[in-house]
Amino acid sequence: MAGSRVEDHPSYQKLLEIMGTLEDLGGALALLNWDQSVNMPQAAAAERARQRATLARFIHEMATSDQVLGLLQELASQVDLDSLEDAPSMIRVALRDVEKRRKLPAEFVARKAEAVGIAQTHWEQAKQAKDFSLFRDDLKRIVELAIEEAELLGYEEDPYDALLDNYEPETRTADVERVFRELRDELVPMIRAIGERPQVDDSFLYLAYDRKKQWDFGIEMLKAIGFDLERGRQDYSAHPFTIGISGSDVRITTFAADDLKPALFATLHEGGHGIHDQGTPARYRRTVLGGPPGLGICESQSRLFENVIGRSKLFWSHHYPRLQEYFPEQLGGVDLDRFYKAINKVEPSLIRVEADELTYHLHIIIRFELERALIHGKLRVDQLPEAWDAKMEEYLGIRPPDPSQGVLQDTHWAIGAIGYFPTYSLGSLLASHWYQLAVTERPEVEEELAQGRCDALRAWLEERVYSYGRKLSPPKLVEAVTGGPITPRPFLEYARAKFGEIYGF
Ligand code: ZN
Repeated sequence: MAGSRVEDHPSYQKLLEIMGTLEDLGGALALLNWDQSVNMPQAAAAERARQRATLARFIHEMATSDQVLGLLQELASQVDLDSLEDAPSMIRVALRDVEKRRKLPAEFVARKAEAVGIAQTHWEQAKQAKDFSLFRDDLKRIVELAIEEAELLGYEEDPYDALLDNYEPETRTADVERVFRELRDELVPMIRAIGERPQVDDSFLYLAYDRKKQWDFGIEMLKAIGFDLERGRQDYSAHPFTIGISGSDVRITTFAADDLKPALFATLHEGGHGIHDQGTPARYRRTVLGGPPGLGICESQSRLFENVIGRSKLFWSHHYPRLQEYFPEQLGGVDLDRFYKAINKVEPSLIRVEADELTYHLHIIIRFELERALIHGKLRVDQLPEAWDAKMEEYLGIRPPDPSQGVLQDTHWAIGAIGYFPTYSLGSLLASHWYQLAVTERPEVEEELAQGRCDALRAWLEERVYSYGRKLSPPKLVEAVTGGPITPRPFLEYARAKFGEIYGF
C-alpha cells in the first residue's frame, strides 16, 4: 500500500492491543507460577493448578483464534516479511507462532497434558524406588506422543527437527549433530588427559557456610554483574529459575544450601538470565518481540555469567578478598589460585546438573543421541537404561550404580520435553563465542572485569544480541552476531587454554 504505513493500519493497532493483552495475561500466569515455587502454602496445589490451567487456556484460545490469524494474514500481505523493522518483524514472528500452535489439535494437547501429568507422578515414584520399570510404560507413551507431535508439526528431513524447533526455533538436528560430533571428539580425550593429572583439592568448598552470609554475598555479586534489583528480586526455591513478570519485574531464585557452590553459582546463572530479560529493549514490551528467540540463546546468557565470568580468575581476582572477609574461617587460609582451581575442578560424575564445564556437554550429548534413536525407532524404551549406562561408560568412563543416578535423573522426559536438552550445550558454546567477540571488539570488557564490573560486557550484549529481541531465530541471530553458523571452536579454544593451565597438560 504505497504511501501508507502498516503502523497506521487499524488492523495493526488491533494486533498490538491483542498482543498487549496476551502479554498481560502471560505476566499474571508467570506470577502465579513464581508464587507457587516461592510462597504458596502446600494445601493450595490443586486449586492453583486449576487457576493456572484456566489462565493458560484463555491465553491459548486468544492467541490462536481465527481473529488473530485473520489479522496477521491480512497484515502479512502488506509488508515485506523479511524486513527487520519492528512492525514487519512483529507480524512475521506472531504469524509463525500462531501457525505453529494451530497445528496441534486441542484433542492432542489435552491427551499429551494428561499423559504427562500421570508420567510425572510415576517418574517420581520410579526415581524414589530406583526402578525404571515403574516409569517405562509412561515413557513409551511419551515417545509415541512425541513422534505424533513431530508428524503434526511437520518437518523437512528429520522428525527430531520438529521437536527441537519447540525450544530452539529453526535449528536443524543435522547442525546440532555436526557441532556435537566436533565437541565430543575433542572433549573425550581432553577429559581423559585431565584424569591422568593430579586432581585439584576442593574439599574446603564443602564446609558449612552460613546461609545468611551466602545470601548477602550473592546480592553483592548480582550488583557486580549488573542485575538490576530495582527492577527485579531474588528469593529462595527448591529448583532455581528465572521468570519475567513484566519488563520491570524480573524474578530469580537461588538454592539455600550449607556448602558454597550451589547458591553462589545458581545466583550467577539465574542472574545472567535476569540480565538478559532486563536488557530487552523497552519498545518490545507487551509484544511478541519481547521474549527470547530460543532456550539456547537464554542459556548462553546464564552460562556466560555463571562460567565464563563467574569461574574466571579475572572476576575472582577482584571479588575473592571480599568472599574471604565473609568467610575467614573457611577461606582465610585458601589463596586465590587454590580457590580458582577448586571452582573449576573437572571430574566425570553421574549427575548432569552437578557436572563441571567440560563433562557437562557429554551428559547432554548422551541424551541427544538417545532421544534421536528413540524418535527414529532405532532404540526401544525397554533398551534405554542399558543404552544409557553403556554411553556413560564410553564417554565418561563411569557407570551409574542405579537408574536414579542414571536414566531417571532428569525430569525433562517425564514432562514430555524431548528436544530440549541440546539447548543447554548450544547455550554454553555460544557463551564462549559471545565473550570472545565482546573482548575483541571492546578491550575494556576485561579491564572492567578485573575491577569486578561487567558494564561494558552488558552494553555489548544489549547492542549486539538483545537488541533483536525475537526478530531473528537463533541460527539467524548467531549468523548476524558472529558472521557464521554456530561452532564449538571458541568454546574448545577457551577450554583448552583454561583447563590446560589449571591441570598442566
Ligand atoms: Zn538456565
